[in-house]
Amino acid sequence: MQFSLTQRIYIFTVGCCFLFAILLASILWASQKIELAFKREKYAQQVDNHTNSLTQHIISNQLYASLHKDEAWLLLHQKLLNILERAPKLTPKQQTIQNSINSQSHSVTRLYSEIVKLAPVNSSIREHLLSRLISQLESIRADSVQLSANVQQDINQVIERQVVFILLLFLLCIAVLLYGAVKLTKVFKKSLQEVTYAFQENHSGHFQKIKLTHNTPEFNSIAQAFNAMNLKLNETMVSLEVMKKVVEERTHSLEQLSNTDPLTQVANRRALFERGHMEFSRVLRNQKQLTLVLLDCDFFKDINDEFGHLFGDKLLQHLCQTCKQTIREVDFLARYGGEEFIIILPECDEQGGIDFAKRIQQSLASHALKADDKDVYLTVSIGITEMTERHKSFEQLINDADQAMYQAKKKGRNRIEVTHSAPLH
Ligand code: GH3
Ligand code: MG
Ligand code: MG
Repeated sequence: MQFSLTQRIYIFTVGCCFLFAILLASILWASQKIELAFKREKYAQQVDNHTNSLTQHIISNQLYASLHKDEAWLLLHQKLLNILERAPKLTPKQQTIQNSINSQSHSVTRLYSEIVKLAPVNSSIREHLLSRLISQLESIRADSVQLSANVQQDINQVIERQVVFILLLFLLCIAVLLYGAVKLTKVFKKSLQEVTYAFQENHSGHFQKIKLTHNTPEFNSIAQAFNAMNLKLNETMVSLEVMKKVVEERTHSLEQLSNTDPLTQVANRRALFERGHMEFSRVLRNQKQLTLVLLDCDFFKDINDEFGHLFGDKLLQHLCQTCKQTIREVDFLARYGGEEFIIILPECDEQGGIDFAKRIQQSLASHALKADDKDVYLTVSIGITEMTERHKSFEQLINDADQAMYQAKKKGRNRIEVTHSAPLH
């Protein structure tokens, strides 16, 4: 049968009260036993004293010499009889001695009345009876001494027995109480530990069920509620994680979309300025080189007019492919305008820019695009600017590159022109 914790506490409390009542009753019972033993001792003492007084009285008053009734002796004797009648409850052995004392005291009464009747005629019989009376009294005394000794022995035994009994009972009570308390504490402690552990694990993100070692209805209901809540929380966390991932992916693709030119799939004007400002600030900080290359397709209007706008689009894509294959990982290609592109070359000087521009021109010159069975070669005019102290913004850098490109157009197109100014280093 499984008890709940509340029931266990109730049983434990009732058990404690019951044990305490037993202990109290035992102490009372033991004290009564000891009191009875002391009563017996007092009784034996009184019998002994009175028998002794009677003997002494006979000897001192020379009862056998004076031959009349002795009132004092009779009073003493009556007292002895009264004491014998009021004897406390005795043990069987003590009762045997008591019976002997009783019968002997009646003999004493008889002997005394016979002595009184005989007086003073038959002195020899009287003397004989007197000596018998005294020996009878001595015998009662001997019995009372034996009773005293027995009672004394009984007192020691009773005290010893009761002390041992109470002590054993006390130890038993303590053992039972300790066992109950330890058992209850163990169940509480273990269950609380398990609940706390589950809470801590939950707090650190590891969703953990409460696993109880002790099956108690109280902690079971806590565990059930916790586990149900945990399940819900886990599901919510999982869906939150999924949502977070979706949002991250969407944000990333939106960012991509907002930064990418849809036709050529290279960075758009917005992304160009963002990256350009960043690179410009970096150069201001670390004093490294930065070169800007601006390309403008030559006679693009004519190409559109001759081969169509769609073919023009293809040419723009072809140009971007060529640039992508030529630039380094750190370089940045962007569409600046209609058929104008900018390439940012970090940690690259003017000469590096010229080399790069030449590679682009060579590549374009060696790869034609077919339009109506006609090979169309795209040419570009290129303006190059290396960042100098004169440049206060990224826009100025673009402006210079634009002017250089304009010079290239002016000087016949398909050319590379550089803005000449004092380099930064
Ligand atoms: P120039 O050598 O002086 O640069 O002559 P150009 O004809 O290229 O003159 P300009 O640079 O002023 O002309 C740009 C033309 O590029 C105008 C426009 O029709 C064309 N263009 C701009 N964007 C696109 C585009 O996305 N696709 C196509 N097919 N054509 C475009
Ligand atoms: Mg143009
Ligand atoms: Mg042009």
